[in-house]
Amino acid sequence: MNSKTSPSSVLREIYGFSEFRPHQEKLVRALLEGKDAFGVMPTGGGKSLCYQLPAKMLAGTAVVISPLIALMKDQVDAANANGIDAAFLNSTLSQQEATEVMSRYRAGTLDMLYLAPERLALPGFADSLRQNQQQAPSFFAIDEAHCISEWGHDFRPDYLFLSQLRKLFPNTPVGAFTATATEKVAADIEQRLSLGEAVKVRASFDRKNLFYEVRSKKDWERQMVDFVKTRSGQSGIVYRTSRKSVEATADLLKANGINAAAYHAGMEAEQRSCIQDAFIRDDIDVMVATVAFGMGVDKADVRYVIHGDLPKNIESYYQETGRAGRDGDDSHCLLLYSPGDSMKIRRFFDDISDEAERQRSADLLQAMERFASVPGCRRVRLLEYFNEPYQEESCGGCDFCKGEFIQVDASRPAQMLLSAVMRTGGKFGAVHVCDIVAGASTAKIKQFEHDQLPTYGVGRDRPKSYWRSVLDALIAGGQLQLSTAQFPVPQLTEAGAEVLYGREKFSMSEDTRVEPEKVSRG
Ligand code: ADP
Ligand code: ZN
Repeated sequence: MNSKTSPSSVLREIYGFSEFRPHQEKLVRALLEGKDAFGVMPTGGGKSLCYQLPAKMLAGTAVVISPLIALMKDQVDAANANGIDAAFLNSTLSQQEATEVMSRYRAGTLDMLYLAPERLALPGFADSLRQNQQQAPSFFAIDEAHCISEWGHDFRPDYLFLSQLRKLFPNTPVGAFTATATEKVAADIEQRLSLGEAVKVRASFDRKNLFYEVRSKKDWERQMVDFVKTRSGQSGIVYRTSRKSVEATADLLKANGINAAAYHAGMEAEQRSCIQDAFIRDDIDVMVATVAFGMGVDKADVRYVIHGDLPKNIESYYQETGRAGRDGDDSHCLLLYSPGDSMKIRRFFDDISDEAERQRSADLLQAMERFASVPGCRRVRLLEYFNEPYQEESCGGCDFCKGEFIQVDASRPAQMLLSAVMRTGGKFGAVHVCDIVAGASTAKIKQFEHDQLPTYGVGRDRPKSYWRSVLDALIAGGQLQLSTAQFPVPQLTEAGAEVLYGREKFSMSEDTRVEPEKVSRG
């Protein structure tokens, strides 16, 4: 391209877009000027364009590192369709195909070369990227850069080798891109890729077109079918944690006349890519999947994401819901929450051998539980988690701000729970405390003779889930605090004592959408 061409005219020419999205131009210009660039932008922010455009405009080949081997071919096809000469090298190519790609690289005819990270680490490979001065890469673009951080949700050991790029190619600019919102991961990326001097952009993580809704999971089959049926013909993703529940949910939807398919790691690779293609072509409306599905899937018009189970942390929830509405149109995120889900996730944590790591996972899960169980503006909470202040009084884009909750005085029920905690010495878990108040007859209650306590069964007229929500609200309000043991138990605080002895009132939000439940008195 000649030097008079401006980035915006190339934007129009090759993509047909009339203007840049926020921050894109700054990153594009940095790379064009030979500077390092670091873009932290949410999914749908338009990161790929930030390196594709300079790759097209600059002489030489830009080397793009991506962990998404399965998607490289699609990315390359898409780039080629836009008139960008691209090719990829990964383990799916035959020896001969790989040799052909390298000779195109050496001939200098490629704008972009996509590489899996492990390829770069092969002995001698980095050298083969610089046959002579002219053919040194124009820059390196590191896609999904959070894969380099152990703090991220998707650490790839192969990415660690990228820390050496600076030494191997001291004069080649590096552009790093990620949708990871946590500061900690961003700092880690910056340090490992030596991006101290880079032009940095951190976009807002507020996805204005997403509506967030959390409902308590009562009768998931009905809830799921009702929701999906009102959106027939739209594309949606349903996330479930286990393969079994993925299958069951897909069957359920199909039995209700919904065009759905299952997707999980237990299926053949071929079958998976076939289903993924069908989803992208709109031949399938609803993908029911484990979280293995979605990273990097370029379907811009996903209109809703349903979580049938609690995600294991807020970061995952944010990334998974983020796959809705990449085209900027209004989209819906529904989370069905049941406290029992967190217990199932906790069991997986038992397999983590590193103590600190296990504790960290447990803390992150607890933050997710709070997000789901304690009402408040969902958007404010999400952004708070990423240290991003939110200015508006009400976001207008979540169930809380829409007025689905009312504030009620809950001083009496709070006292019942606080009393149960106090009388059992703050040594028992949340489930057990709720069992006492609800008057359940479990083995543990018998064992400790907690059916002899004056608080035993005082809350029989309400379901256990109600007691759980009060207990969560007391933790959120600071009347109870969780101990730091491996199995955290709620303990009374000074603020809790004030409520217990009637010196302070306690109010909490109540979900107006919950139908009164029949209480079984077993
Ligand atoms: P990310 O990788 O950040 O999730 P993508 O690069 O996949 O985002 O871009 C998301 C969608 O936005 C794509 O469909 C892309 O074509 C579109 N897009 C990117 N930049 C622009 C722009 N400047 N104007 C209009 N659409 C854009
Ligand atoms: Zn809100």
